[in-house]
Amino acid sequence: MELIDIGVNLGSQQFKKDLDDVMARARAADVAGMVITGTSLAGSLRALEIARGADDLWCTAGVHPHDAKTWSDSSAITIRKLCADSKVVAVGECGLDFNRNFSEPEAQRAAYSAQLGIAAETSLPVFLHQRDAHDEFFSTLKDAWPDLGGGAVVHCFTDGPAEAEAYLELGCYLGITGWVTDARRGDALRRAVPLIPDERLLLETDAPYLMPQSIRPRPKSRRNEPMHMIEVARAVAELRGQAIEEVAALSTANARHFFALTAGGR
Ligand SMILES: [Zn+2]
Repeated sequence: MELIDIGVNLGSQQFKKDLDDVMARARAADVAGMVITGTSLAGSLRALEIARGADDLWCTAGVHPHDAKTWSDSSAITIRKLCADSKVVAVGECGLDFNRNFSEPEAQRAAYSAQLGIAAETSLPVFLHQRDAHDEFFSTLKDAWPDLGGGAVVHCFTDGPAEAEAYLELGCYLGITGWVTDARRGDALRRAVPLIPDERLLLETDAPYLMPQSIRPRPKSRRNEPMHMIEVARAVAELRGQAIEEVAALSTANARHFFALTAGGR
């Protein structure tokens, strides 16, 4: 079986001490590729540095809505430059997060729109983040859609059937994390997962965040790792009434196609 983790924050401080072990454990657990999320300028540079280290690693380049307050014209220049590297397979993560508003909504809007513009210019896919901001996020995306030649993935999709239908109708891929293993918090998502067509499904851990709730015995550490991709795949397979092997095969094929993954770059 082969799995591809399309959203893993390997540049996180939490992986600093044992990154090589974390990647080795993932590879031993059927993870055939990892797309490292860039969430800030420094974070995107770090993601690229890691991605350059192996043929089964790629990365995104972007500024997360939490960091949108740092966005400036020079950020756009840096992201554009990073996008010229063949290891950078998407613009983002970018979007809107009105859940905690670590950056003012106005700053979030500016950074989101600018990065949609870079995705349009470069024809790279865009790696999107949305939390508690669906309506505005979606309408901005819809306006930009005709220019987004590389398509879009709504990463860590956590909403329900109505939101899923809207994104799918537009043409987005949906990235599903271990949120799906949370029976209480993940209820809406669990109802949406069976509605995703085979060809739009992507899987991710969002590690070190979102430890799957399904691991037994419960891990002592709260740090999620890409080796837990299997937990995400298993939960998604159960909800969709598919074999885990089938979900692994189709989501891996989707990831390779969507990000145009090839050894050494895109
Ligand atoms: Zn995110």
